[in-house]
Amino acid sequence: MLHDRDRIFTNIYGIHDTGVKGAQSRGDWDKTADIIKKGREWIVEEMKTSGLRGRGGAGFSTGMKWSFMPKDSGDRPHYLVINADEGEPGTCKDREILRSEPHKLIEGALLASVGIGAHACYIYIRGEFYREAEAVQRAIDEAYDAGLVGKNACKSGYDFDIYVHMGAGAYICGEESALIESIEGKKGQPRLKPPFPANCGLYGCPTTVNNVESIAVVPDILRRGGAWFAGLGRENNAGTKLFCVSGHVENPCTFEEEMGVPMKEMLEKHCGGVIGGWNNLKGVIPGGSSVPVMTKGQCDSALMDYDGLKEHGSSLGTAAVIVMDQSTDIVRAITRLSAFYKHESCGQCTPCREGTGWMWRMMERISVGNATIDEIDLLEDVTRRIEGHTICALGDAAAWPIQGLIKHFRSEMEERILEKAGTQPAADAAE
Ligand code: SF4
Repeated sequence: MLHDRDRIFTNIYGIHDTGVKGAQSRGDWDKTADIIKKGREWIVEEMKTSGLRGRGGAGFSTGMKWSFMPKDSGDRPHYLVINADEGEPGTCKDREILRSEPHKLIEGALLASVGIGAHACYIYIRGEFYREAEAVQRAIDEAYDAGLVGKNACKSGYDFDIYVHMGAGAYICGEESALIESIEGKKGQPRLKPPFPANCGLYGCPTTVNNVESIAVVPDILRRGGAWFAGLGRENNAGTKLFCVSGHVENPCTFEEEMGVPMKEMLEKHCGGVIGGWNNLKGVIPGGSSVPVMTKGQCDSALMDYDGLKEHGSSLGTAAVIVMDQSTDIVRAITRLSAFYKHESCGQCTPCREGTGWMWRMMERISVGNATIDEIDLLEDVTRRIEGHTICALGDAAAWPIQGLIKHFRSEMEERILEKAGTQPAADAAE
């Protein structure tokens, strides 16, 4: 469990002053110039030491990602792009940073930019986060006025500009290359990779795309040292993390906790436990809607980090924990997610464009029992033909929740079909 002394986000609920003075009183913007003067290589090495893995879902090493940027800028500028397109159902952590701790993000953007040799940063904020974008812009204006960013940022000799760019609400623009396309003014569709953004990103220039939380923790890591961050959590699963819990708990909320905390303990400490008690739990989607659902039996012993959830066939994703108690119609719940992914498919690749629609239509029928038992196997087969056969991960994201449902809750799907078949002539039931 996390000690207060190791907490990074000390104003995540916006209770205290969110402006620059308030942020400075909590330790932000402290000796930033000294860190910048330590240089690019030192920053990247310290980030590698910290073991920070990207907080946007993929969990790739942040320091390693930065080291992929070309060492010399040449005649192409480098860019940092911050992904604030938080659109994964269940996920509501980055918006708290944008609202209440924007100066951590801006200071982090400056230090990360030094680490990748960039002098400009774009924060891509989803269109629905209008108030959040206002809050970030206000903080950027304050930072410019105080000389913390702009020419000779923090009197370090480093020039750095930062801009807010708003999206229009498409989920797929959270995919890094679609996000880059969108900033360039094009339709937000993922690019084929390679080339990767570190070689050819925004405007064809070397670009690093990082999640809001990944960037907002950078100043604390560099001030306190990578070893401090690495000492929290477990090996390969270092640090603290913002978790956002929704669904059937007494007190749904977003909070910071140490990685590797047991799920049950975490829900009881921060959320008042599952409504009706732990034994009333049916299942948990632990990392945003795209990861497989876990059963209560798995949740009993699950540790909340990358490896802990992988052991149970699921994933930490964005650490958006969706709790479902026994009253949940889990087949209906996953059907709703299928409708979401069908709606958000950008339509570029056939398995995703056609497959998400197939899966949703089959789920709609199965959820009311209007199917045959062998269609469950057919549905599983369809998910396997989509998974791994698309340009971006949306295809996987649409397939995995259904795979998790079939794996763990197949009996509920079968019961529904058999119940309906029992009340109707067989030919109708298979319609
Ligand atoms: Fe578009 Fe889906 Fe293909 Fe991604 S997987 S590029 S969302 S069609």
